[in-house]
Amino acid sequence: AINFSIPAYFGYMLSITRLKSFIPKSLFPDDDITAVATNLRHDAAALNSAATDFGHMVTDPPAAVLFPSSINDIISLIKLANSRPVPFNIAAKGCGHSVRGQAMALNGVVVEMASLNNPTRISVSGNASDGFFADVGGEQMWIDVLNATLKHGLAPTSWTDYLYLTVGGTLSNAGISGQTFRYGPQISNVVELDVITGKGDLVSCSAERNGQLFHSVLGGLGQFGIIVRARIPLFPAPNRVKWVRMLYTNFSEFTEDQERLISINGSKQNGALDYLEGLLLMHDGPPDNWRSSFFPPSHHSTIISLVNQHSIIYCLEVAKYYDHTSRHTLDKELNDSLDGLRFLSGYKFEKDVSYVEFLNRVRSGELSLKSQGLWDVPHPWLNLFVPKSRIAEFNSGVFKDIVLKRKMNSGPILVYPMNRSKWDDRMTAVIPDEEVFYTIGFLNSSGFDDWEAMDEVNKEILRFCNSVDMKIKQYLPHYRTQADWANHFGHKWKRIQDTKKQFDPNMILSPGHKIFNF
Ligand code: FAD
Repeated sequence: AINFSIPAYFGYMLSITRLKSFIPKSLFPDDDITAVATNLRHDAAALNSAATDFGHMVTDPPAAVLFPSSINDIISLIKLANSRPVPFNIAAKGCGHSVRGQAMALNGVVVEMASLNNPTRISVSGNASDGFFADVGGEQMWIDVLNATLKHGLAPTSWTDYLYLTVGGTLSNAGISGQTFRYGPQISNVVELDVITGKGDLVSCSAERNGQLFHSVLGGLGQFGIIVRARIPLFPAPNRVKWVRMLYTNFSEFTEDQERLISINGSKQNGALDYLEGLLLMHDGPPDNWRSSFFPPSHHSTIISLVNQHSIIYCLEVAKYYDHTSRHTLDKELNDSLDGLRFLSGYKFEKDVSYVEFLNRVRSGELSLKSQGLWDVPHPWLNLFVPKSRIAEFNSGVFKDIVLKRKMNSGPILVYPMNRSKWDDRMTAVIPDEEVFYTIGFLNSSGFDDWEAMDEVNKEILRFCNSVDMKIKQYLPHYRTQADWANHFGHKWKRIQDTKKQFDPNMILSPGHKIFNF
């Protein structure tokens, strides 16, 4: 038995690897251990990369990093962890686009899922009568799913704003964007998963087969298993998108118009809008931000003066897909949809872009920030779901009384509604208890020395919401006590505890969330 500390243990395994070429294989006590050891690293580069994420606010170094060459390596690692007298923790890491250490494993092992990537791990099959689908590895990024499925003229319907996120990572949260009001979050758009549980069992699951595991893993924050395959339904892909933004000075007119649009278009089959979001403009800088460059430069100065005059401008954003067959009806259908909206006259802007350009709209902003050294900075983000009945109070109490006054915000603020009916309550993801709720995203960037001040504003926002009992839920949640987690999960908490005991009894998976590990 190997009974020394976890870092020393991994040092031992790595030294096994180094010795491997000299010692006959038959002398190794356990082939699985040596297979894992071959792909474990604990050099500074591997450890540092696994000890940080997009948030740059948490640094939790693991003892080692696994670069799996197959899913068997992950199974072996999990079994090995469970066989130890004190099991070590394991976190799957997609792209590490979490912001508060959720994909880290302090003194445990981080699994760099990208290392599984190879072209065979995305395949498209099906037929016109039963439907088409893609089987994709959990490590795959959505941009690669898009590119692979478009080769067949097909695509998934539910997206995130940014496509350099992994399938396993977004399915562990929810995966939301402007398509969610109509098609549901990404977790509502997956029909089958292969999951390696916290016990090291590889299980295929769907709503019908092993349904408890399937529903628990979706939005499950990596707590019950590691997703190694997801089956995603595909539909004929459009090739172009009409993309429209309209400006409002009045918050209730803005939100009422958003709600009217998602109510009419959420269930409509033909002619419906495909995407709806909204954002706030509240700085005298350029009205575009890194998430998308949209407004014609010739209008920047008038938009800036409008923002200066009103302090906050609300921007409603919609999109409608089309192709050569629907091109002729596009303008009429779009005009019908937007008829009667109360945006400011003269402040409607349109773009006509390719489908890929639309879905991949955040990429150019990312590359531009990277070239200026502004991508790898702290990101004190706060993402909330707010019940529709409290959204006006959120505008006055948060946007006007906190964000505007503190002048600490630096980054896009998203505001858009979605329909609860497109979510499945059996899944672990948590949303407010109202048919319509809003997602609010404070996507802050800061300097390395002022993120804490910005995060204080986030805390003030949360305190305000609690003080008026707004019944918000955090998206991409972050808590530090189990009582807060229990409160977050509400009626699901007991089920989550039971499911954890069943599929990860030693509580080794995804410790970075600090739900079961402190
Ligand atoms: P990671 O951050 O690496 O992991 C996230 C969590 O999932 C961790 O707990 C990890 O252990 C677990 N995990 C990772 N892979 C697996 C797996 N295969 N199986 C099980 N668990 C796993 N989210 C949206 O919903 N909509 C958006 O529009 C959106 N835009 C974003 C834009 C940017 C620029 C960034 C940085 C993030 C955005 N996000 C968005 C948030 C994103 O969904 C989360 O960061 C999510 O965690 C996915 O990132 P990732 O693939 O890098 O996962």
